[in-house]
Amino acid sequence: TEIVVGLGTCGIASGAKDTLEAIKKELEWKNIKDIKISQTGCMGYCVGEPLVEIRQGDSKVLYENIKDFKVEELLQQHLIEGNIVERWQVDEDLDFFKAQERIVLKNCGLIDPESIDDAISNGAYRGLAKAIKEMDQEDIVNEITVSKLRGRGGGGFPTGMKWKFALDSPGEKKYVVCNADEGDPGAFMDRSILEGDPHRLIEGMIIAGYAIGANYGYVYCRAEYPLAISRLRKAIKDAEDYGILGENILGSGFDFNLDIRLGAGAFVCGEETALLASLEGHRGEPKPRPPYPPQKGYKGYPTVINNVETLANIPDIIDKGRHWFKNIGTEDSPGTKVFALAGKVRNNGLVEVPMGTKLGDIVFDIGGGLINDGKFKAAQTGGPSGGCIPIEHLNVPIDYDSLKELGTIMGSGGLIVMDQQDCMVDLAKYFIDFCKDESCGKCTPCRIGTTRMLEILDKITKGEGEQKDLDLLLDMGEKVQDSSFCGLGQTAPNPVVSTARYFMDEYKAHIEDNY
Ligand code: SF4
Repeated sequence: TEIVVGLGTCGIASGAKDTLEAIKKELEWKNIKDIKISQTGCMGYCVGEPLVEIRQGDSKVLYENIKDFKVEELLQQHLIEGNIVERWQVDEDLDFFKAQERIVLKNCGLIDPESIDDAISNGAYRGLAKAIKEMDQEDIVNEITVSKLRGRGGGGFPTGMKWKFALDSPGEKKYVVCNADEGDPGAFMDRSILEGDPHRLIEGMIIAGYAIGANYGYVYCRAEYPLAISRLRKAIKDAEDYGILGENILGSGFDFNLDIRLGAGAFVCGEETALLASLEGHRGEPKPRPPYPPQKGYKGYPTVINNVETLANIPDIIDKGRHWFKNIGTEDSPGTKVFALAGKVRNNGLVEVPMGTKLGDIVFDIGGGLINDGKFKAAQTGGPSGGCIPIEHLNVPIDYDSLKELGTIMGSGGLIVMDQQDCMVDLAKYFIDFCKDESCGKCTPCRIGTTRMLEILDKITKGEGEQKDLDLLLDMGEKVQDSSFCGLGQTAPNPVVSTARYFMDEYKAHIEDNY
């Protein structure tokens, strides 16, 4: 028998550490021996935290909302009297679980993220072994190119193409950098992967290093993720001890060293040139491109920068092959996408679905619909760089191109659901406020433009705006998009443009009814 407690940040925030302690004490008190107590990362069903799973042979029973005071009854009923406590049991047939397809999150919530043995027995490093034993650099880059994997950090740039540029760029040294500087409000995909299955990321980075000829890698992670950092640190150390990381990996003669660098929480450092500047110890400000990082990146050497989810896809693509990967998702956006489902949706949590899944299926089947029987109004994708999708487009397939047509972006995976109570002008104001705070100040359109846009939105939401303010807001939005230096400024007006496109009546109501 094994009792597994979800100890991701979501679980810990809900009291899972107290639950774990209560389980240990209760077992001791009841003098029950031969029970293994384990931890795991985020199981995805964050709404049910603290989650406790009792595994006995092939049987697994998942319980939700197990606060410490419920432990005594749970163990008495389940372990001693042999009864499943149905009122606390999570229904395994929930669409939340059934409608997902988990590749990146496959081991999250299953393995102990601090045990390399657990990771290996669940398939970790199989892709690396295949890459090193059976493939050369060109083979790997070609496999990733033909798989059509696109960057999961937001832009959707073809990963194989990026790797090919770096492979073909001459350089005495080359680098692989993982962008784990997740900063979108409401997004926690990268954090959960790092906390739940850090070996998957390490494996993806070693394969990337082997493919482009890099012997060094950095994970640039925001310092606000202490649990993710400590688990990743342990995983790196364990991989080194196992000869998987460091010198002469798996006896191949290939060396790859991996280190973690902490960011100080600046959203702009998610932009790759700003990230590199920060990594080099400079102020995190974007630089002009070209040269692009695969040609001239970290310290002037060819550098591949991929986000956590992109790299976490690599091991299975190599292990199972591009054909397997291309059979999932859509023609132009193969594979899956991880979303952090948040807002007014019942099943808040982390979900992974094939690309092309309809938004409505995510919100109503996986998400279980809206809380308090609310009526769906819109969903925001892409965080501060994205836009909203109104109810008339609920059936949109979630892929890079379909979202772009609606004026939003896939982004890194934040998906915030709103109901009829939510004011879309307030939403736009919230995101502009965020971008104004996060603007690095290097260029005027973004630095001043976002400040002025916020002032106008403030005026409108106080019922003091006029039509000319609205006109100025939209005109300024266009100019900030067109003339800002980097992606942060170029996309900062998107939530305003998008809400004005679909919810102009709300802007007008603020102006005409003075509220
Ligand atoms: Fe900095 Fe904004 Fe200009 Fe980007 S657009 S360089 S974040 S001021």
